[in-house]
Amino acid sequence: MQVTKKEQDLQKRDERYVWHAMRGSAPAVGNIIAQKAEGAWITDIDGNKYLDGLSGLWCVNTGYGRKELAEAAYEQLLEMPYFPLAQSHIPAIKLAEKLNEWLGGDYVIFFSNSGSEANETAFKIVRQYHQQKGDHSRYKFISRYRAYHGNSMGALSATGQAERKYKYEPLAPGFIHVNPPDMYRRPDDEQTLESAEEVDRVMTWELSQTVAAMIMEPIITGGGCLIPPQNYMKKVKEICEKHGALLICDEVICGFGRTGKPFGFMHYDVKPDIITMAKGITSAYLPLSATAVKREIYEAYCGNDQYDRLRHVNTFGGNPAACALALKNLEIYENEKLIERSQQLGERMLKELEELKSLPFVGDIRGKGLLIGIELVEDKQTKKPAKAELINKVIGLCKEKKLIIGKNGDTVAGYNNILQLAPPLSITEEDFTFIVQTLKECLSSI
Ligand code: PMP
Repeated sequence: MQVTKKEQDLQKRDERYVWHAMRGSAPAVGNIIAQKAEGAWITDIDGNKYLDGLSGLWCVNTGYGRKELAEAAYEQLLEMPYFPLAQSHIPAIKLAEKLNEWLGGDYVIFFSNSGSEANETAFKIVRQYHQQKGDHSRYKFISRYRAYHGNSMGALSATGQAERKYKYEPLAPGFIHVNPPDMYRRPDDEQTLESAEEVDRVMTWELSQTVAAMIMEPIITGGGCLIPPQNYMKKVKEICEKHGALLICDEVICGFGRTGKPFGFMHYDVKPDIITMAKGITSAYLPLSATAVKREIYEAYCGNDQYDRLRHVNTFGGNPAACALALKNLEIYENEKLIERSQQLGERMLKELEELKSLPFVGDIRGKGLLIGIELVEDKQTKKPAKAELINKVIGLCKEKKLIIGKNGDTVAGYNNILQLAPPLSITEEDFTFIVQTLKECLSSI
């Protein structure tokens, strides 16, 4: 491929000055320096166009180039760019109210800037809540292997992917992991029971009165698109209640229509105690995240003692422009019925991709809404995960054909084998066909 003078220059400057996430100096499938974007398409500095099949990092749910989002932020920046949320401002009030409508419950909202921070906030709220109820021994959090909950020390401690933690340890104490259900390897009801029983057992062995909460994504996303059995989450909630622990639901990826419902937990007939969200709230046009807390938990913080208050503060959380933009973004989901669209397109995409299962290395294709995982294996009998080289090869082939897709980030335990697809919920019919065709061509050519 011809490299222009302009591109050469930027590539060099990039190499010299920018520290990129998750890679050494050379990315496995080449570097894209993106310049502009519209709909589901990114254009790089050399004019190449790519369909962004991962919506950035599962976040640009309403698609690129939304002028009305830029305008909502611009107008708010002129009106008032900042005011701390120790007091209040209109966009935060309206957004908190609107999120309650979406959540279908009675939640009080604490705003932050990233998914990691939303989870950190949840952990602190939970620990202090138990203290304030006089339950001084509850501090442990149960989370699951293969799940990702963020990069900060607490959120990373909850994360169940060794690769992300190695060399940053020791992390925060008090985080204990259990196994998630893996329906591809054990597609039966027994497994629901087993995985839920593991939560029960671990809470018992750890001593119920030391367990503060369980944190889980409804569907493990970055760790491999693990759709749980239908009753699993409900059972986990019941077990939490039995042990006096709260349930934190991490909706950082699953929220805002990604799985075909407003929030992922809505597939499973449960009401979590705390819900954390980020990414799709602003479709990543600006940083914003939220920790939604059931009113009865919040009420434990309303005493007069200064140490009964939540003494957790951040400078930028709930920035007025980010909140105004988020409100406009929620309007787009509603006006364009993007959540229903995610559900319908997701179902259609799974059907269209089904034929790929006849390939000897495609073990499973699964998903909910426009959150889809394609699990590659070495052997369909043993279901042994395929090696990283195969995954990188597919990603490279797709990139050559101008489709960006992702992979799971969980390599230590051998699970580096799941292709991830999560395009904007606003993709057109043509985009849909392009994704399906390109995946078919690339996988079949191997
Ligand atoms: N939770 C989940 C489920 C995530 O996928 C992520 C990020 N991919 C986070 C939390 C952390 O979010 P952030 O990168 O915004 O800190």
